[in-house]
Amino acid sequence: MFDHDYARHQMVERHLARRGIADARVLKAMAAVPREAFVEQGFEEFAYEDSLLPIAEGQTISQPYIVARMAEAAEIEATDNVLEVGAGSGYAAAVLSHLARQVSAIERHAALAETASQRLAALDRRNVAVRTGDGTKGWPEKAPFDAILVSAGGPSAPMALKEQLEIGGRLIIPIGQQERSQRLVRITRLAAGRYEEEDLGAVFFVPLIGEAGWREHSQPAT
Ligand code: SAM
Repeated sequence: MFDHDYARHQMVERHLARRGIADARVLKAMAAVPREAFVEQGFEEFAYEDSLLPIAEGQTISQPYIVARMAEAAEIEATDNVLEVGAGSGYAAAVLSHLARQVSAIERHAALAETASQRLAALDRRNVAVRTGDGTKGWPEKAPFDAILVSAGGPSAPMALKEQLEIGGRLIIPIGQQERSQRLVRITRLAAGRYEEEDLGAVFFVPLIGEAGWREHSQPAT
């Protein structure tokens, strides 16, 4: 029978630690979350390959390396209040729940949000809330956030997300003028109206669709 625990620890060592993920808390969180519980039925044996996999609604569960890379870039502390936009399968939210005090995750597809919620509850992750909605507007009732991670690529960083950051808060978001090819950017809120932006490299995400993202069929909404 397939040994998921062994495969998970191999994945953390080979695909994360050896490729430069150095934050011990992030590596521990990645080693704690059973990714096989977040993939579609029939894909369990591929759960620890370092690749994205298809999920319902034509979406994907992110590649483990990218989840770890974004979590590391967000510099999450145990007392942090974190928002994830694009909950998808719920996997990244589960990882974040091991790093932060509170995680709020938004998903535009209700069916995905529902399944993600059930999976997180089954794993007893009590510090995560998932809701359906347009994450480009953030989640004002839960703000301010110490970190916001956007798991889909948009044409620019939505102003609502920037404004829902705590001073010193970090927004990690794939941005690009093409829907499926982006640069991963870290935006730090230095003071009211003042932000610092850093380029963390090329990435490839499904489109961020919403009021401050792409329109359902291709063109930027803004
Ligand atoms: N973090 C997810 C995981 O671990 O499975 C990966 C999610 S997938 C790469 C990106 C998700 O973003 C998709 O499920 C998609 O439906 C969602 N999405 C796209 N635009 C969105 C928006 N404006 N608000 C919320 N979710 C959105």
